[in-house]
Amino acid sequence: MHAMVLTKLKSPLEWMDLPKPIPGKGQLLIKVHCCGLCRTDLHVIDGELTHPVLPIIPGHQIVGTVVEKGIETHTLLGRRVGVPWLGGTCGHCHYCLDGRENLCDAPLYTGYHTNGGFAEFCVANEAYCFSIPDHYPDIQAAPLLCAGLIGSRALRFTEQGRNLGLYGFGAAAHIVIQIARHQGRSVFVFTRPGDIETQNFAKSLGAIWAGSVDDLPPNKLDAAIIFAPSGDLIPKALKATSKGAIVVCAGIHMSDIPAFPYSLLWEERTLRSVANLTRRDGEEFLELAPRIPVETSVTTYSLRKVNAALDDLRHGRFHGAAVITA
Ligand SMILES: [Zn+2]
Ligand SMILES: [Zn+2]
Repeated sequence: MHAMVLTKLKSPLEWMDLPKPIPGKGQLLIKVHCCGLCRTDLHVIDGELTHPVLPIIPGHQIVGTVVEKGIETHTLLGRRVGVPWLGGTCGHCHYCLDGRENLCDAPLYTGYHTNGGFAEFCVANEAYCFSIPDHYPDIQAAPLLCAGLIGSRALRFTEQGRNLGLYGFGAAAHIVIQIARHQGRSVFVFTRPGDIETQNFAKSLGAIWAGSVDDLPPNKLDAAIIFAPSGDLIPKALKATSKGAIVVCAGIHMSDIPAFPYSLLWEERTLRSVANLTRRDGEEFLELAPRIPVETSVTTYSLRKVNAALDDLRHGRFHGAAVITA
């Protein structure tokens, strides 16, 4: 099978011809239809996450068809499934036992510990695959599997915050705004200074205000989610919030946070991060998405063009999400 492989950190992925993987016990062999791109893929390639298993095929928003099964599996051949970032957990650490498998001490992440979806085939643990709602064609479904899942988990942590700020407006934020609008919230979107195109895109999805990350919004925020991987945004977001507000950092990696005065956190503001996903997050979100319905805006690239797609992601050259078609 063809695959795009990371053999060396901070290097482009390499086009390779590899043997088709064989599904083991509890695993499915999946013919990949497409795989969404995520900023985490850049953090893996750039060596910003600490334990990648090299060589690795990145990609963790996989939509495909089950074509072969290992023993002790139940999914029907030909079924369409989705493979997310969380590809396995230990099942017995105290996080797994109390329903916080997103924090498992010995997790397996797709495209980081196990080969992911920038390939024609992949194997995945059946117990961590999702079924994809019929409402969505493959390409529109792929961004739901990380951008959507992590985004909706981050949104949940903003609790009831009515005035919601979104810092960075990429794949996750363009999904979150649709859920937040559905919940009746007012959404304020912050982009790179001067990125009028993205600000207009946010307004087209229902943002009541869109401006630069350096601006203060017309109303104080009750909650904010920071999607862009820049620690500078934390004091900026706190400055834009009202008393008791919650600021959620949704990325897996962020540059260092500059020192800031305690007064920005004072008055019971909360600052927290979001890590990974649980299978329950996935089931709940994939049940909700078609009812809103969440629609994804997608740019597609062929498997051979993954490096160009990653470069476009790094430089914000497309709106919404990017998806690789096998
Ligand atoms: Zn991701
Ligand atoms: Zn565990």
